[in-house]
Formats: sequence, C-alpha cells, structure tokens
Amino acid sequence: MGRRLSSRFVAGFRIEDAMSTATALGAQGLAVTLDSLGENVTSPAQARQAAQVYHWLLDALAQSKLNANISLKLTQMGLEVSPDLAGEIVSGLVRHAAEAGSFVRVDMEGSALTQTTIKLVRRVHAIPENRDHVGIVIQAYLRRSAEDVAALLADGIRIRLCKGAYQEPPEVAFPDKKDVDRNFVALMKALLKSGLFHGIATHDEGMIAATREFAQAEGVDRSSFEFQMLYGVRRDLQRMLVREGYGVRVYVPFGDQWYPYFMRRLAERPANVVFLARNLLRR
Ligand SMILES: Cc1cc2nc3c(=O)[nH]c(=O)nc-3n(C[C@H](O)[C@H](O)[C@H](O)COP(=O)(O)OP(=O)(O)OC[C@H]3O[C@@H](n4cnc5c(N)ncnc54)[C@H](O)[C@@H]3O)c2cc1C
Repeated sequence: MGRRLSSRFVAGFRIEDAMSTATALGAQGLAVTLDSLGENVTSPAQARQAAQVYHWLLDALAQSKLNANISLKLTQMGLEVSPDLAGEIVSGLVRHAAEAGSFVRVDMEGSALTQTTIKLVRRVHAIPENRDHVGIVIQAYLRRSAEDVAALLADGIRIRLCKGAYQEPPEVAFPDKKDVDRNFVALMKALLKSGLFHGIATHDEGMIAATREFAQAEGVDRSSFEFQMLYGVRRDLQRMLVREGYGVRVYVPFGDQWYPYFMRRLAERPANVVFLARNLLRR
C-alpha cells in the first residue's frame, strides 16, 4: 500500500531504484538531484546511517556518467540531536562530493531552522576545497529571504530558490500567494544577476515565464542557471524546457521514509488527494 501510494512522487525504496530512475531521466536530457528520504532523526546512530546512504550514493554517481548530485535535510543528519554532529556529518559528505566532483544541496526545512541551516552551510562553504560543492535553499515565502539572499551571494554560495513547503505563521511568511510570487520574482532577478549558477525551482508557469523573460532581457545565458522540478510533477513542462535548451534538474526522492514528503506534496495541491483516491479505488 505504501509503495502504491507513494509511487506518484517517490522513485522507489532502494538506491538501485533511484539510480535507475536517474538513468531514465538522464536519457531524456534531464539532470537529477537525489534525496534519500528521512528527517528529524533522534539519535546519532540514525544520523550516521542516513549519511552512509549518501556516501554510497556519491560513490554510485561517481561511477555513472549522470549529471546528478544529492539533496539532504539537516534534521536527517542529526541537527536536532546536536548541531555539532550535523556539522561534522555534512562536512564529511561535502568533502566526499568535492573529491567526486559532485555537489551537496542542503534543503531548507521549517523556519525554526532557517538561521541554523544558513550558519552551517556558510561554515562548511568557507573551507576553500568545499567552494562550488555545497549550496542551500531559499524559500520565497519567508519575509527574511531578501536579506539572506544578499548575505549568501556575498559569500558566493549557490542557491535553489523555491516558494516554501512548510506551514508558517504570518509573522515570518507571506500568507498571500501574490506576495510570495512577487518575492520569488524579485529574488530570482537577484540570483540571475549574481553571476553564480543557481536553481530556479518551481512548476509555476508564471514564475518560469518571468525567469525566461528576465534572462532574455538581461542577456543572461541559458547555461548559467537551471530550472528544477519535483519527480512526478509537471513532466510535460520539464520536457518542454529541455526541448527549448534550458537545463532542468529533477528532484528524485527515494526510500521508505516517504510519509512526510508525500504529505507535503498532497498539501500543496489538494487535487492530488482526489487523483490518488481515484487511482486506489480503480485497482
Ligand atoms: C526541486 C525542488 C526542490 C524543493 N526543495 C524545497 C526545500 O528545500 N524546502 C522547501 O520548503 N520546499 C522545497 N520545494 C517545494 C516548494 O517550496 C513548493 O512547495 C513546491 O515546489 C510548489 O510550489 P510551485 O513553485 O511549484 O508553485 P505552486 O504555485 O504551488 O504551483 C504551481 C503549479 O505547479 C503544479 N504543482 C505544484 N505542486 C504540485 C504538486 N505537489 N503536485 C502536482 N502539481 C503540483 C500545479 O500545476 C500548480 O498549479 C522544492 C521544490 C522543488 C521543485
């Protein structure tokens, strides 16, 4: 039942499933970032076990010719057990990624962790060998994001810009979609003008059009940024952008800890609940 429910958004339970999905997407001209699902671990042993999966992934990716990297969550790396533990684990993974010519994207979680996440990524990125091998995520719904983007760009840190997927109070996040969208466009412009390679992560056709128009107007080359989308969401748009010569990276989650990720995808689009219920009843 879990496998059936989650398969719309999750590539399978094992590393082999993630690698074969990455290979199939690669054949369609798509890059990938692989997410070994899991969050909020409660012991150092769980954190180290989760990190080990990523070390295996980095080894597997190094053997392949895929345009692929990894995405992880700090609460999966033990942040809530001890920030020092998470720092040590992430540093080890970024070192491995640097040796393998790969890249670690640190996902952004709820706003209680924004400051800690930024601090940790800046610290790991400050080690000269790690430059270009670790990046962060900024959420356009957060009121603080413009300031965070300015500070991260000053450090030369690569950013994935998304709208944000967690429930947040109005003091910290814009409650209205139009304000989130306006902020997304403003932040997108700052990223595209920065001269660093960033990811514009959205399935919103309005945001994609704004990005394309701005890049064209400012003479920003298509190869100097990429669009990013989630596995199983708007495959038509992913393929269309690839056909038009844009880089598109698909976020591919896998593993048995699929429940929180899956619930965030349902919450984003209530129509998904109806879609899934219909599919389950049909079988
Ligand atoms: C590559 C990637 C990485 C991300 N990483 C993070 C992260 O680290 N932290 C974080 O908080 N959030 C992350 N997100 C999620 C993001 O914050 C949004 O919640 C999500 O992308 C929906 O926003 P949207 O920009 O697509 O726009 P929306 O306005 O929500 O949606 C626009 C359109 O996209 C389609 N769509 C959007 N979501 C779905 C869905 N679940 N199912 C089916 N169709 C959908 C629909 O057609 C919808 O009309 C990530 C998203 C992407 C694409």
